Amino acid sequence: MMEERSGLTVDVTSPMVRMDQVTHVYVTDQEASLAVEKIDFSVNTGEFVSLVGPSGCGKTTILSMIAGLLRPAAGQVMLQGQLVNGPSPEVGYMLQQDYLFPWRTIMDNALLGLELSNSVDEAARERTRLLLEGMGLGGKEHLHPSQLSGGMRQRVALVRTLATNPGLLLLDEPFSALDYQTKLQLEDLVVQTLREREKTAILVTHDLSEAIAVSDRVIVMGRNPGHIRRTFEIPDSIREAQPFYAREQPGFNELFHEIWGELEASGAKE
Ligand code: ADP
Ligand code: MG
Repeated sequence: MMEERSGLTVDVTSPMVRMDQVTHVYVTDQEASLAVEKIDFSVNTGEFVSLVGPSGCGKTTILSMIAGLLRPAAGQVMLQGQLVNGPSPEVGYMLQQDYLFPWRTIMDNALLGLELSNSVDEAARERTRLLLEGMGLGGKEHLHPSQLSGGMRQRVALVRTLATNPGLLLLDEPFSALDYQTKLQLEDLVVQTLREREKTAILVTHDLSEAIAVSDRVIVMGRNPGHIRRTFEIPDSIREAQPFYAREQPGFNELFHEIWGELEASGAKE
């Protein structure tokens, strides 16, 4: 079934993302290194999937290929049934550091993505203002990033990512620099916001309990070269709870230990 979205004709029956035998090689002056090899997975529309695994196993490389910033050496990366060959307005990419411009106001930082695509008008401004308000940033539009806490700045970065209305969000350790309490609050807010808007998300995190609490599925990776070891489906009782309460659901600890075992085995391969 074909449909018009963001000016593109897309096949809405295809998964949002499909990685088919994807391999990536980084080439430098001195050497070529195999970063990930034969990665195969799909993410359906509306799904929330986490990638976990030891540092260097290729999580960021995978997100960058989906974002169209890196090209695979072999295999195919598909977005809504179309081969990825560059950045797409359907994809929002949010990084660990908030990368807000210190000289711009919160509003102007939040509008940046829209500005880059030349689509700032009154309606876009109003939508962005409502998003800021929904993230508890109402009244802060005219402040500068240095006047906000780390958690607030990450919320601004999230608004900026959502403001262009992408169907797919790529989140690379967006909570890792935050204190524990702020991180738990932000997890709830992000999951609620993405669910309400029926967004698809791929989250990279080194916090396994976070991955289990927010996801429909957790993909465990290993390294040398990066590969998928195992995929875990999260049971409904945990999936349907808000992240904060998911951690208290029966079965959460057992699942944590099972995935932890898989992660330990992946690190021990070094
Ligand atoms: P992760 O995000 O899981 O920590 P990365 O995707 O950043 O892993 O890196 C995967 C592998 O590719 C690592 O071995 C890393 O050293 C290598 N790598 C990442 N970026 C580059 C780069 N720009 N040039 C060369 N090698 C890189
Ligand atoms: Mg990384």
